[in-house]
Amino acid sequence: MSPTKGSTISVTAMMSALRDVMAKEMSGPKRLNTVLTLLCEQLKMPSAVLYVMRPGDILENFLAIGRPVQLPTFVRLGEEIVGRVALDRKAVISSKGVNKTILVVPMVRGNQVLAVLGLLSRRKESFSTEIVEAVQNVAMILAECLAELTSSKTTKNLVSLSVSRTLEGTGMIQGFALGEVLLHRRLEINGPILTIHPDREIKRLNTSFSKVKRLIQRRLTHPSTPAEEKELFETYLMFLSDVEWKNKVESAIKTGLTAQAALQKVGDETLEKMRAVADPYLRERARDFQDLTARLMQALIPKSGKKKLIGNKILVADNLGAAELLDYDLKHIKGIVLEDGSQTTHVVIVARAYRIPLIGAVKEAVRQLEEGAPVAMDAVQGKIYLRPSDETLDTLKSYQQALRSMARLQAKNKDKPAQTKDGVDVSLMLNMGLSGAVDHLPPCDGIGLYRTELLFMTAKSLPDIRTQTEAYKRVLVQAKNKPVIFRTLDIGSDKVLPYFEQQGEENPAMGWRSIRMTLDRRALLRNQLRALLRATAGSTLRVMFPMITTVEEFIESKKTLEIELKNAILRKQKTPKEIIVGTMLEVPALIFQLDNLLPLVDFISIGTNDLAQFMFAADRTNTQINNRYDSLCPAFLRALNLIVEQCDAYHVKCSVCGEMASRPLEALTLLALGIRTLSMSPESVVAVKTAIRSLNLDKYRDYLMSQLNSKQSSLRNALSSYLRDHHVHLGEIS
Ligand code: PEP
Ligand code: MG
Repeated sequence: MSPTKGSTISVTAMMSALRDVMAKEMSGPKRLNTVLTLLCEQLKMPSAVLYVMRPGDILENFLAIGRPVQLPTFVRLGEEIVGRVALDRKAVISSKGVNKTILVVPMVRGNQVLAVLGLLSRRKESFSTEIVEAVQNVAMILAECLAELTSSKTTKNLVSLSVSRTLEGTGMIQGFALGEVLLHRRLEINGPILTIHPDREIKRLNTSFSKVKRLIQRRLTHPSTPAEEKELFETYLMFLSDVEWKNKVESAIKTGLTAQAALQKVGDETLEKMRAVADPYLRERARDFQDLTARLMQALIPKSGKKKLIGNKILVADNLGAAELLDYDLKHIKGIVLEDGSQTTHVVIVARAYRIPLIGAVKEAVRQLEEGAPVAMDAVQGKIYLRPSDETLDTLKSYQQALRSMARLQAKNKDKPAQTKDGVDVSLMLNMGLSGAVDHLPPCDGIGLYRTELLFMTAKSLPDIRTQTEAYKRVLVQAKNKPVIFRTLDIGSDKVLPYFEQQGEENPAMGWRSIRMTLDRRALLRNQLRALLRATAGSTLRVMFPMITTVEEFIESKKTLEIELKNAILRKQKTPKEIIVGTMLEVPALIFQLDNLLPLVDFISIGTNDLAQFMFAADRTNTQINNRYDSLCPAFLRALNLIVEQCDAYHVKCSVCGEMASRPLEALTLLALGIRTLSMSPESVVAVKTAIRSLNLDKYRDYLMSQLNSKQSSLRNALSSYLRDHHVHLGEIS
């Protein structure tokens, strides 16, 4: 056993050395480092560590000096020795066995625990009371150094001092960004709750409605407002003209609540109801609704307008309404980090319009990223570097350059034909429907998949034939005479209609959904087909059925269309000049019925999202496994090859409308399998086209075919290496 510390150490000498350090001119980080080093030297302790308090009752390993020790990066307040010391504000000496001693003391300043200091030794040590008291005094000094450091906002210095860390999420809007963390704060509403003047409060409510309406109108008519933003504000106007909702708020005021309290109450109740619906689209509406309610309250109690910002910020939030984002001065918002992982939220759509890189699905982002900390974002890889190292910064800057030159290249290709280097023309179409209307479609050959679910999911009750007809006509107008393939209702699973009774199911994705449901509730299908026939009267109707599993289901669906066509003729209604009928191929069983199916269909559209889900028996919505199997594995590609060969033999056009078609590497691979029509999300068109224009398809096909029998579980590396070696632009940064 070593002698009691204290018998060998002079506290007086230690304090005097400390005074010298404090008297010297040096930067905050250096002082912190020097004091800590001095403490270790004087106490003959090999290692020291500083855990600082972070928002959310977390302590973070901020600085470690001396001999490296394996320690957790984070400790919760109250847990382990560090957390307990922070909570109890008392020093603890812990000896584990004969070879480990830890002395931990809190660093308190102004009645607040700023951090915890730990001194560690691999030997058994014992400390005199005098020494422990001296260490506590040093801890106070260190607390001052730390406070000075954080208040000076010399974030550059913090980088060199503190622990770098990487958080991961999903890159939703590609790009790179550097800046300081800006934690999103919700609008804070205050003001009285009760009133004895309900009439006055109703007047205030009306004024706030008019004020918000005016603000929205102004934004809608402003020439520089992007289409995506207009779409959002149109939804707000729709909410604002909902008389039922306003009446409810007025009734609440009449019970004695002020306008703001009534808005809050009715808002909370409505929100609760909307949140109970599982559908992601309606959940998004709930967020818009919350956002609008906050806006109305802000109009009642005017506070600040746009938040004043300085420098480059990375906005961090659990979730964010699109209008909340627009409240910030976007010049300063260089990136967005969200805990929310939904791709279809309005904030993603709006951020894309403003080209702000965004990473979503970042677990506990708000708790882990503290205000003002420097971060670097790589929204291509979905990584956030907290206090990045110089090497990380250099790498990201070079990626940023590469991304910019890629964007320039894509802009050059935007209006050029989708033709490979060896002259093969490809038809690029769009997947539309779920995100509502899009004002400016990218150059394309039409809409290859129009998901009709949206209209049904947003309506309060089943939309009647007239409403549907008008909606489909609008889509055709939007497509400016280019072909539109309407897919009949694909509901069930996670797309639930609030007014349609559905039993809870064990496996809804494989349950009573889609064509299964509409064939059983035939009126639903008949009305939809009737509306489609009316909307395309005098032109061409292109329609396909989802989730077809057997040839009979297709025959039944097509028969239903024929009956509706006959009825229309009997009623002397104008009918389409041409009707083109196809099916989605998304259930593996259908692959083995192609000989019977293909003579009956005009086209096939492969839904790779569901086809992969069922082929791999892997739930596409389960984040734990949805990346486990690769659609670029030989098995899946061989299945696709089989489909293409069969379609070629029957001269049936075969396209792909699943997500695979939206990604350049996958899209090129589909072309190499013989697919010539790809339908994708609008924002993918330019990247896919750029890739196509740099490809020699014939050679790539030869290479792909040579790999199809490989035993590997994925050809991704092999295929992307081949393409990169042949200077094909895959839209990736490496
Ligand atoms: C698919 O399954 O690939 C598809 C395009 O349909 P959805 O994503 O709408 O299920
Ligand atoms: Mg599908």
